[in-house]
Amino acid sequence: MAKIVFRDPSTADLIVEHSVTAWHVSEETEFQQVDVFETVEFGMTLALGGVINVTERDEMGYHEMLAHVPLLAHPNPRRVLIIGGGDGGTLREVVKHPSVEEAVMVEIDEFVVDVSKKYLPGCASAFEDPKANLIIGDGLAYVRDAADDSFDVILVDSTDPVDAAVELFTPEFYADCKRVLADGGILVPQSDSIQLYPDRVAKIAGSLREIYDRVDFYLTFVPTYPGTVWSFAFAVTGETDCRRVDMERYEAIEGSLRYYTPELHRAAFALPRTYSAVIGE
Ligand code: SAM
Repeated sequence: MAKIVFRDPSTADLIVEHSVTAWHVSEETEFQQVDVFETVEFGMTLALGGVINVTERDEMGYHEMLAHVPLLAHPNPRRVLIIGGGDGGTLREVVKHPSVEEAVMVEIDEFVVDVSKKYLPGCASAFEDPKANLIIGDGLAYVRDAADDSFDVILVDSTDPVDAAVELFTPEFYADCKRVLADGGILVPQSDSIQLYPDRVAKIAGSLREIYDRVDFYLTFVPTYPGTVWSFAFAVTGETDCRRVDMERYEAIEGSLRYYTPELHRAAFALPRTYSAVIGE
């Protein structure tokens, strides 16, 4: 059986090896290399730029924690902006909240949306939801042009800092997001592997702290991501407590959950000492 092997780009150490049973898509778009294949271990898999972005068996740890942690900490999230997120998994989670009136998703590469609809229908299930508004375009430009105070929560579900995503990790972008967030708004950018790329995470922490009133980090588990443990930043304008869970709105979430629990939400902000040191706490 064919094997696919992912190595750390800087050290060439083996990160993960999967047994491939079928290869469905291999195409270079204007923005990135897009591959879709199936493996024995994780099922249908989407890789962008040679890096696993989504597998059907472990995507919930990423998508549910990216969406529900800020949406349940915020007092009343009505307008949500997702940058990237082409597979649709984050959008699927956001529209489960009855308080959300509109979820705008800005994805640069339409081909990612198209292949996700075909091969990852479990993720791409909310594009037709009446609250969903998919815009194909550059998230950076969208945020630059967006009106002040126009969103309650911004989720940056981007690829890692390569290709079109590089500028989504800059202080200029984080400052634009702050301007676009209403009072008490929350920005959650995916912030990479704190185990393998501590320098990247430290840089994100430093940039966000210059701009936001409070910045915390939380963790989730995604076995197919480098290092398994993945980090998110939680940056707020104002006083919002990252560990707060609105239990009434938690009970009102429409549809099933496979990963998120309120206990996990609170615990996710408890970091091992070495990780706290990375982000300067
Ligand atoms: N969970 C994933 C991960 O960390 O591996 C990210 C998944 S999602 C598929 C990432 C998406 O971000 C991709 O579809 C990519 O096209 C999109 N993206 C990258 N740069 C972007 C930009 N500047 N504006 C909008 N979308 C962008």
